[in-house]
Amino acid sequence: MIAFLGNIRYMRFFISLLFICTCLSSHAQNLKAPSDFLGYELGTRFTPHHRVLDYYSYLSENAPSRVRLENYGETNEGRPLILAYISTAKNMKNREKIRLEHLKNTEGKGEPSIAIVWMSYNVHGNESVSTEASMKTVYELLTHKEESLENTLVIVDPCVNPDGRDRYVNWYNQYKNSPYTIDPNSAEHHEPWLNGRPNHYMFDLNRDWAWLTQVESRQRIKVYNKWLPHVHVDFHEQGVDSPYYFAPAAEPFHEVITDFQREFQTTVGKNHAKYFDANGWFYFTKEVFDLLYPSYGDTFPTYNGSIGMTYEQGGSGSAGLGVRTGTGDTLTLKDRILHHHTTGLSTLEIASQNAVRLNQEFKKFYQPKDFKYKSYVLNGNPDKLKALTELLTKHEIEYEWATDKTVKGFNYVSGKNGSVKTDNNTLVVNSDQKKGTLVKVLFEPNTKLSDSLTYDITAWSLPYAYGLNAIASETKVAAKTTTDRNNFEALNLEELSSKSYAFLIKWNSFSDARFLADLLNSNIKVRYAQNPFVMDGVSYDRGTLIITKSDNKNLPDFLDSLRSKALKHQKVVYPTSTGFVDGGKDFGSHSVQPLKKAKVALLSGKPTSTLNFGEIWYFFEQQLQYPVSVLNSDYFNTVDLSEYDVLILPSGKPYAQFLNQARMKSLKQWVRDGGKLIAMGSALKDFAKDKTLQLKAKNIKKDSIAPIPIYDHDQREQIKNEITGAIFKTKINNTHPLAYGYDDIYFSLKLGVDAYAYLDKGTVAYLDGNGIQPVAGFAGSDAQQKIAETLVFGVEKYGSGQLVYMVDNPLFRGFWENGKLLFANALFMVD
Ligand SMILES: [Zn+2]
Repeated sequence: MIAFLGNIRYMRFFISLLFICTCLSSHAQNLKAPSDFLGYELGTRFTPHHRVLDYYSYLSENAPSRVRLENYGETNEGRPLILAYISTAKNMKNREKIRLEHLKNTEGKGEPSIAIVWMSYNVHGNESVSTEASMKTVYELLTHKEESLENTLVIVDPCVNPDGRDRYVNWYNQYKNSPYTIDPNSAEHHEPWLNGRPNHYMFDLNRDWAWLTQVESRQRIKVYNKWLPHVHVDFHEQGVDSPYYFAPAAEPFHEVITDFQREFQTTVGKNHAKYFDANGWFYFTKEVFDLLYPSYGDTFPTYNGSIGMTYEQGGSGSAGLGVRTGTGDTLTLKDRILHHHTTGLSTLEIASQNAVRLNQEFKKFYQPKDFKYKSYVLNGNPDKLKALTELLTKHEIEYEWATDKTVKGFNYVSGKNGSVKTDNNTLVVNSDQKKGTLVKVLFEPNTKLSDSLTYDITAWSLPYAYGLNAIASETKVAAKTTTDRNNFEALNLEELSSKSYAFLIKWNSFSDARFLADLLNSNIKVRYAQNPFVMDGVSYDRGTLIITKSDNKNLPDFLDSLRSKALKHQKVVYPTSTGFVDGGKDFGSHSVQPLKKAKVALLSGKPTSTLNFGEIWYFFEQQLQYPVSVLNSDYFNTVDLSEYDVLILPSGKPYAQFLNQARMKSLKQWVRDGGKLIAMGSALKDFAKDKTLQLKAKNIKKDSIAPIPIYDHDQREQIKNEITGAIFKTKINNTHPLAYGYDDIYFSLKLGVDAYAYLDKGTVAYLDGNGIQPVAGFAGSDAQQKIAETLVFGVEKYGSGQLVYMVDNPLFRGFWENGKLLFANALFMVD
């Protein structure tokens, strides 16, 4: 260096280099690394969420020109959800301009040059390395990677699921040895029944991107749609013994995934491999994690034009701060941080190197596509249509209302080509719109599978999930109006007068059930019709709610209360001046029974599945809004069940231990005395073994000789016996209270091959010998035979009570809209 001092040109260069170095190092010096800020070396403790927020706030306060935080919401337990935007000071100044220019690309306009990379950490709360790694990665970006930020804007969600993560961290801190032990038998490596993976309601947030049932997802989608990043990474962990997994993903890939999206997955993977090879770290690609089910943090972004990827470190809730692996090595939190940190930085590097291409290809993704089906046309109950339009609105999917005509196409109900008459109550969703790819993925009748081995369910088509009649049309259907029609116009408040004898409410949708729950919660007495009737020239079906004035004569403000609830729920209430019907049974008849304000208990803890328990808990609190008592299996013995009218046993692990002889006897006695027991999924097995009950497992003829599977292909042989999630058309007896409000078919999402024979009496929904091929999704050939002529939903009368059997789960992931009424029927109508 000294030799150059005489040369003024070099001198200048040296000074400016010194200046740059000083700038960079002043950034580095000014900003504390996570370890310095937190007061412990990263990886030696788990950082609670509030301290993670402190560090991000610290960064934004000390590098305000380069880091901006956005609070995008709050969890069920009140923890803030935040995003950190990170780039150069220049880009950050132009952040809104960059966003708008980027979005113009979806319309084929705009000249964007910046790559937008979104990194989501810790969607599964107990995959706890992710949030720790995010802090290291962000720090490194700000202090040593400024050059890759010149053309890149990074959006970091440090913790998608703070409730779950803090649940894990708090639990771990309570149970860890000091110092931690790597012995995998020690308690610190064994999370309890309620582990940290799901959110507060025990929903898996990495199954919820498309359905948006959870508060975290609903708040996130608003910002996500504002940015639609080029690249989205979802950081995860898998089992302790698994090497690291990164892109490219495994088959099946959904057919909408473009060549570029596939190719770029490989580009990213090869860049990561470079670093992993140099360090001698193990990894795998192209296996296990496929790109099909649309509700993941990789597929959903992919269907919105992004390069969506899952990265999986070995570890998870059993890894703690360090654990001995199957090969005798020690896996530490520090190692796990380093790996996620490496793939994070490598992703940014490759995105920055390819910013121009990412922008070009993103524009191409949004150019009009010639999908086979141009329009999806949906008819049905207005409440169900409304529920669907609410989901579409959250996704910024456009929809219209049809005009009077006839539309031809694939009929979802019949499974054949057919036609339907449309009018202004008919919903039309076109695939030639900005979100057209997502429309195709969510609406098409049957998803094309390039491989039947997949990680998840293989069918989800929304017309089936929402119980709507639909046609997929190969020509675009012209529609007129884009404003929502008011389906509430029939309510005449003046008619809710004191002169009325009773008020009638039709029973057709889950929204009706929600209205009923609200009425019962307000102590309004409600009856229901067990037979159809005609009143004032209007036909009313089974399940119609009848609210008489005399039942409610002691309720102060009865009419005001009924009026305000009808308004709140947008319900049509038909007043009538008499209890004398034109046809059917009068309101004083025995077939018009009062509805019980049922006291409901729900079993939690082992052996129930946290997911199924969570779905039911969420159903009561957030969807139906009706009280439920949660009884943990730990102290179930001490509870006096006679205080409850309904007991729900969720699906889960085998119930044999819980339903031991003594317990079975006492539960049967409770049912005999008038209790209603709702058993779901695996909880049915032990009832089927009880000789005094009707429920029986279906007799399966064993193959004479089981084929010897080919060694490499035994997984494929196995899938002949499997259904991992496919839609079946079941017949349903809508004269039974469990099926009030339904047509005579119900599309059920089948998640397994549990097979029970029809009940002698009380078979409500069932598969017959013909209905065993799924209407959508994959079902193995042996599995199809197994489920032929089996029960789907049924009710067994037992003494003065009932056993309600749910072989399938109508509340699966909270998104099977058409199953919710069935569950409400089980609570209120079955008597
Ligand atoms: Zn995960």
